Amino acid sequence: MALMAQTFDICIRGAGIVGRTLALLLARERLKVALVPAPAPVSPAVADVRAYALNTASRQLLESLRSWPDAEHATAVRQMQVLGDQGGAVVFDADPQGVDALAWIVDVPALEARLAEAVRFQPQVEVVEAPVAAPLTVVCEGRASSTRAEFGASFQVTPYAQHAIATRVRCEHPHGQVARQWFLPGGILAFLPLDGAEGNSVAVVWSVPQEQVASLMALTPEDFSQALQTASQQALGTLTLCADRAAWPLQLAKADRWCGSAPAAGAAPRSWVLAGDAAHNVHPLAGQGLNLGLADVQALAEVLRTRDYWRSVADLRLLRRYERERKAALVAMGLATDGLQQLFARQEAPWQALRNWGMKGFERSGPLKDFVTRRAMGMR
Ligand SMILES: Cc1cc2nc3c(=O)[nH]c(=O)nc-3n(C[C@H](O)[C@H](O)[C@H](O)COP(=O)(O)OP(=O)(O)OC[C@H]3O[C@@H](n4cnc5c(N)ncnc54)[C@H](O)[C@@H]3O)c2cc1C
Repeated sequence: MALMAQTFDICIRGAGIVGRTLALLLARERLKVALVPAPAPVSPAVADVRAYALNTASRQLLESLRSWPDAEHATAVRQMQVLGDQGGAVVFDADPQGVDALAWIVDVPALEARLAEAVRFQPQVEVVEAPVAAPLTVVCEGRASSTRAEFGASFQVTPYAQHAIATRVRCEHPHGQVARQWFLPGGILAFLPLDGAEGNSVAVVWSVPQEQVASLMALTPEDFSQALQTASQQALGTLTLCADRAAWPLQLAKADRWCGSAPAAGAAPRSWVLAGDAAHNVHPLAGQGLNLGLADVQALAEVLRTRDYWRSVADLRLLRRYERERKAALVAMGLATDGLQQLFARQEAPWQALRNWGMKGFERSGPLKDFVTRRAMGMR
């Protein structure tokens, strides 16, 4: 039975990974949370074929909420190989960093199930069918959020003219806990290890020019596997498609404002704030979109947790502090992923030479490489 609206401190719109994680974080602070999932789809929901590369910070956060999947669904990556189109290569290893893994490749349905279960057992969180009035509304509706515009935030979108095709393949050879990424002329291909340390299947993310998407999606499973085999230079031998294919248009995007005052019926202030893909989108080439979203909700929960006892959760001073902190983190990540995407989108020979020369230089750069590795892992 639904509780009376005024009993909620916070209403979270959107029950994706970011929204559910925030609900659990706030419940831990004894805040009463209403969580609003999307209206049920008309056709049955299709399982997400993706697996996300999550960093140490995300892992620690999800573990603290008892929502980290088991080892088979969160494969530790011990090496990352980034390969250019003219012999350039950068290899990152876990050992020199003194860590067990550079990242974990997490099965999306498994993570969603763990979070849904944790929410079910959290009495401070009520799943409600429609938005309720609360001092603070957090919009976690993803990139196509409709509430964002209702609150007056505009979303500045730069399309990449690329789509990411995601699927999964079984490989002749085991992946050996290596994540591989090829920067190819006109596309970026990633193979992310699945099914634990001994596994021999990988999650595929292939970012291709949009004019090639329809023909690649229309290929038979055998022909698509063959195309992947060729693009990956047979690194894992013969490949067999073992999941559906799904495609996403890619974009760089950011909301101009991440918080503001919402119209209030009575005297009590009401505010709104954005988090996750509703606030920002980056290219998936660096596997950072969800890591950023999880860092958003961790920062938001921390700002609310440490507020003066007399401040409301709707206090705009708090929300602006969150906005400033997270916009700064996004600038660095957005610039890095966008710069790489632009650099590898160029077909001309000088650009090809420059990027491969850059990769070789970076590979030998020692401290710089260590610094970048640790930042990508979510470590300071
Ligand atoms: C191909 C690909 C690969 C990626 N790989 C990685 C990776 O390796 N690592 C990484 O960190 N990130 C990765 N990302 C990015 C990642 O997918 C997103 O950053 C992440 O899903 C954002 O989570 P979210 O909860 O903010 O939004 P979403 O996952 O979009 O969830 C939003 C939720 O809100 C719901 N909703 C929408 N509208 C409403 C409404 N009006 N009312 C209520 N609910 C609503 C939606 O149905 C959905 O359930 C990848 C993205 C792509 C496209």
